[in-house]
Amino acid sequence: MAEVRLENVWKIFGEFEAVKDINLDIKDGEFMILLGPSGCGKTTTLRMIAGLEEPSKGKIYIGDKLVADPEKGVFVPPKDRDIAMVFQSYALYPHMTVYDNIAFPLKLRKVPKSEIDQRVREVAEMLGLSELLNRKPRELSGGQRQRVALGRAIVRRPQVFLMDEPLSNLDAKLRVKMRAELKRLQRQLGVTTIYVTHDQVEAMTMGDRIAVINQGQLQQVGTPEEVYDRPANTFVAGFIGSPPMNFMSVNITEEGFADFGDFKLKLLPDQVEVLEEAGLIGKEVIFGIRPEDVYDAFFAQVKIPGENMARALVEIVENLGGEKVVHLKVGDVTLVGKFPAESKVSEGEEVDIVFDMKKIHIFEKRSGKAVF
Ligand code: ATP
Repeated sequence: MAEVRLENVWKIFGEFEAVKDINLDIKDGEFMILLGPSGCGKTTTLRMIAGLEEPSKGKIYIGDKLVADPEKGVFVPPKDRDIAMVFQSYALYPHMTVYDNIAFPLKLRKVPKSEIDQRVREVAEMLGLSELLNRKPRELSGGQRQRVALGRAIVRRPQVFLMDEPLSNLDAKLRVKMRAELKRLQRQLGVTTIYVTHDQVEAMTMGDRIAVINQGQLQQVGTPEEVYDRPANTFVAGFIGSPPMNFMSVNITEEGFADFGDFKLKLLPDQVEVLEEAGLIGKEVIFGIRPEDVYDAFFAQVKIPGENMARALVEIVENLGGEKVVHLKVGDVTLVGKFPAESKVSEGEEVDIVFDMKKIHIFEKRSGKAVF
């Protein structure tokens, strides 16, 4: 079993709290993503799991073993944690062949030669490197080099893989391909994997679950669907999704409308009930809706003037081929919609837009916490 558990983990550099009280349970065989903006503390968290950094406070378990607890003076060094790491810069040995690069961790551990040979060939087969075993790193493409680095990590069959933005040096096309390969490989091996990225698409496509971090604090842990459909707060809602969720200040009226000033939308009965319970009737809240839930009325199933519809000015149209990203203005309110390619909108003209009221989010004004 190789669960990884972080209990109330802190990392403080001098006065600076880089990681604040993180609690995280990573299940055996799970692909867990640590996602957040630059400087949020995700690499520091990974380095503490690896044993490259000691937590200032808190406990870290790998499997059943306590590997770090400063209070008890426990600190297991990286080499005894049964983990393998893959970094952004994949640092292969330039003078060694692909074969020797992959074999290296096994040689270090004095694995018998015949077993090394078998395992290197197995891993090479898995990663499509069989034809390249005699080449040197400089004779490989970026993607091939990254695969060799992965090979070197998986050849040992560790309990846990730790990966820090391993695909970020690859070009966009190769990154998409490697994303799928890495995911497939992880499924096949069933090894618990903790993967750091700031790229929300990478997180959404690869992770079994995503831990969203901001300013050293864990914001939400959930499946890609959960963090996308039910974000815990405005940070998560705004960080995941492209273009990002629209946020607008609204008043919740006694009659159950979200009042934008220039227009109103009728809330659904169960939404009103939740707002009532939260004591938010008559209050100002943050209204959130994703661009794909704002429709060109022409393509909408249900449109009820005055309830879920508004007339908007089209400010900018970004034609992405398969769809159009449309920047809209209703009175003083600006928002973005994702319309189908066939939508006839043009800049400077007006269009009726429809809000999918089932898909809206409401957040508390002060804390940014989701009400629903
Ligand atoms: P990035 O994606 O840019 O690598 P990150 O989320 O991985 O960002 P960390 O590398 O974990 O961020 O850094 C978190 C914060 O801790 C940053 O503000 C960083 O400057 C700070 N930090 C990291 N290591 C140290 C250190 N050794 N001494 C002081 N501050 C540090």
